[in-house]
Amino acid sequence: MHHVLRNILLNPGPATTSQSVKEALVVPDICPREEEFGNLLTSIMNGVLQIGKTGDEYAISLFAASGTGAVEAMLTSAIGKNHKVLIITNGAYGFRIEAICKAYNLPYETTCEFGDYPDINKIGKILSVGSFSHLAMVHHETSTGMMNPLEEISSICRSHGVKLMVDAMSSFGGYPINLMESGIHYLVASSNKCIHGMAGLSFVIFHESCKQELAENSSNFYFNVLAQWKNLTTKSQTRFTPPVQVCYAFNKAIQETLKETVEVRWGRYQQNWQIMYDGLKELGFEVFLPLEQQSKILLAIKLEGQLLNGFDHFHDYLFERNITIYPGIIPETKTFRMAVIGDLDTGDLEYVIEVMKEYFS
Ligand SMILES: *Cc1c(COP(=O)(O)O)cnc(C)c1O
Repeated sequence: MHHVLRNILLNPGPATTSQSVKEALVVPDICPREEEFGNLLTSIMNGVLQIGKTGDEYAISLFAASGTGAVEAMLTSAIGKNHKVLIITNGAYGFRIEAICKAYNLPYETTCEFGDYPDINKIGKILSVGSFSHLAMVHHETSTGMMNPLEEISSICRSHGVKLMVDAMSSFGGYPINLMESGIHYLVASSNKCIHGMAGLSFVIFHESCKQELAENSSNFYFNVLAQWKNLTTKSQTRFTPPVQVCYAFNKAIQETLKETVEVRWGRYQQNWQIMYDGLKELGFEVFLPLEQQSKILLAIKLEGQLLNGFDHFHDYLFERNITIYPGIIPETKTFRMAVIGDLDTGDLEYVIEVMKEYFS
């Protein structure tokens, strides 16, 4: 196949994909009910479980949907009318969890303000008085670039007998997560972020012990986690039409993730993040979060008058040079975002900083 133009996407997914992942999209037409395609789905499911180091304690349900679809599937499949979920809302994606619960009338409460680091003692107190069945949190909060304290929150959930639901959309595949040791009951992510596949697939990984509540509490149809899992494991088929070509590309991306290993990829992300951070500082930019809260996956960068011609002008200058940056979504603070998710190397980030320096000179 001819070489497809390679753009450097610094938006937090869909990310820059490898040439081989792009090529994997072009396959002979196939009916997804064929055994050959079933084998592909099985390979995808096993591969994702392997990335999450689940052992045989976890199962996976796969959906044709963007990441939000998997978040919705998790919440509406597990949380029943007699349950109550505590949602950590310290960024846009935490508030999205709340919006889904609200839309479906699922019982919930929230804690934390936009941009605040979760206060473990406070969360512990809320859990000890609130009769909560679940806690839902975002692992890497993609709106601010904050890495939320997963281990600490997991340990207080465990001590209160509360099931833990994690939106690891922008960390899973790029940051090592060992599900077996995590205390996580549900984890959701998608094909197009740190696994570096094409957009169109998302998944819910769930602990075996959750099957009972999934059987009893589901209030959805398309997004039924247990029904989809049953179909996938007994027939090697999704219940409804999957994005066939995207599945081939996802399988390729999974194999490349496993080959590189998540640990090595995480090292690469941190290196790339550092080049970006140092370069932006040198250009006089300030970032939204203190260093110790940074995920090293994404930066929310403050806009305080550096861009005399506005964000769009800066964006367009970079875009013409094959670099995509992303607007911010933090209330009351003007920011833009840059993420190192994707098939990017140190040379790419050095090029980005070089082009930015050129813009300001
Ligand atoms: C990207 C993302 C999502 C899902 O976004 P989609 O546009 O639906 O793919 C959800 N949560 C987090 C933390 C994300 O980064």
